[in-house]
This record gives sequence, structure tokens and C-alpha cells, in this order.
Amino acid sequence: MNVDELKQTLIQHKAELSERQERVKRHTRHRDEPLPSDFSDQAAELANVETLVALDKEMSQELCQIDHALRRIEADQYLNCEKCGEPIAKRRLLALPCATRCIQCANGNSARSIPSTID
Ligand SMILES: [Zn+2]
Repeated sequence: MNVDELKQTLIQHKAELSERQERVKRHTRHRDEPLPSDFSDQAAELANVETLVALDKEMSQELCQIDHALRRIEADQYLNCEKCGEPIAKRRLLALPCATRCIQCANGNSARSIPSTID
């Protein structure tokens, strides 16, 4: 697998996300005007802002994951699971370039991990 290609994909995705987030932020900031007097309009307006805030949060999280993946590429750890150190399946990385764990660890049922006592 070409890690450089995946890195380019991540960088491109990061740029797109940053741009989208900037647009969302600009939109949420333009909320200084008073809310519409009509109640249904008010509800729609508030729901809209809530959606945008949720979107913003989601994008921040994704950006953080991309940064994390990029750091792992720089550290030459990208192809290995963050938790157990085993190689991550290439198909998994191609589908999920931000994945930092192998499928077993991501599913929380790695044979190497100490069984959870939370159950
Ligand atoms: Zn693992």
C-alpha cells in the first residue's frame, strides 16, 4: 500500500474539512440578530443553529483524527495498531484512513487485551 497516497488523501480531506468548518463557523457567528417573533420560525432557527454546532463539533473531531493519523504517518507507525502493535489490514486503512487500531482492537475483543470487567 502506498502510504504517501493515503497521506495526500488525508491532507486533501483535512483542507476540505477546514474550509467547510470555516463556512459553518461563519454561519453560526452571524446569529446576533434577534430571533424571529414567530414561534415556529424560532424553533426552526434554533434547530438550525443546533445542527450547525453539532456539525462543527463533528468536523473538529474528524480534523483531530486526521491530524492524529498524519502524526502517525510521520512517526512511521501508521501501518500498525495503536493498541496491540499488530499491522492494520490494508483494506481497513483504505476504507478508513483515520483508523488507528486494527479491527480486533476497534471492536474491543482483542485476544491480547485484558478482558473488560465492566460487563
Ligand atoms: Zn490491535
